[in-house]
Amino acid sequence: MKRLFFAAIAIAALAGPAQAQTAAPAAAPTPPRAPISTTLVEGTDNVYIFRNGFHQSIFVVTRDGVIATDPVAYGRPTGGQAYLDAIRKVTDKPLKYVVYSHHHFDHIAGGQALKAAGATFVAHHRAKARLEALKDPHTVLPDEAVGDQGRTITLGGTTLELSYHGLNHSDSTLVMRLPKEKLLFVVDTIPVGTVPGRGMIDFHPLEAEGFMRGVLALDWDRLIPGHPGPGDRLGTKKDVEDQLRLLQTASAEMKKLAQDGKCWDQAEKDFALPGFEAWPGYAAGLPFIARRYCGLWGRGT
Ligand SMILES: [Zn+2]
Repeated sequence: MKRLFFAAIAIAALAGPAQAQTAAPAAAPTPPRAPISTTLVEGTDNVYIFRNGFHQSIFVVTRDGVIATDPVAYGRPTGGQAYLDAIRKVTDKPLKYVVYSHHHFDHIAGGQALKAAGATFVAHHRAKARLEALKDPHTVLPDEAVGDQGRTITLGGTTLELSYHGLNHSDSTLVMRLPKEKLLFVVDTIPVGTVPGRGMIDFHPLEAEGFMRGVLALDWDRLIPGHPGPGDRLGTKKDVEDQLRLLQTASAEMKKLAQDGKCWDQAEKDFALPGFEAWPGYAAGLPFIARRYCGLWGRGT
């Protein structure tokens, strides 16, 4: 235990201030806790949440090997190895796949140790194309691309469905569904109980509403987000409906301001989200939401 504790401190020190800047504004937990954790998802005997700081991903242990997802090691040089170590603590089965949720580096950088362990990396075709163009030195390039029609991975009695529901928080998000467990892993587009913020930079506001309706139409009970929600709770369909309502509110509020000719400065000052003021991340997220919707209604973008 003691050694683990010191390892955790060392990882926190390495991550430094850059980590704080990429953290989700709303997810700050109290009291302070270990920077890295692995948690078995309640009601399952093989689905785990691996959390590093304010980012998290899932891995699934099957009879014939492990399916992992985002390495969550941006700015954390030992994060990928820590992920592999966390997997090795619960199983010695071979690591078969790493599936990227979307192309953003804060979720997918740092997978070299997982690649060295033999995993095949899978991502949406647009993520693969973009990563090949950017050649980020810390991010493993996908081996296989998933088309817009999706793909099903079956391994050792487990089925993981990867589906694409259009533009949203990114242009390359794969929704991951475990049909037997009725679990969903969706990163960034649907925060659980918090207001979105910095991620609005390359957000697709009109199409994201369709994305959420697509997610609502799938058969699932619990949603695992890419950033821990308040109290680490998992999401429900009500959370998706709430986020959809938040986007619709933002869109309607900014539409009035923009069409009155108030974008950018005045509109960004006057913008508010009635009904969401008490939500975690409201103050920090509001300027990002305002700017994105000013882009939509005041600029046509
Ligand atoms: Zn993202």
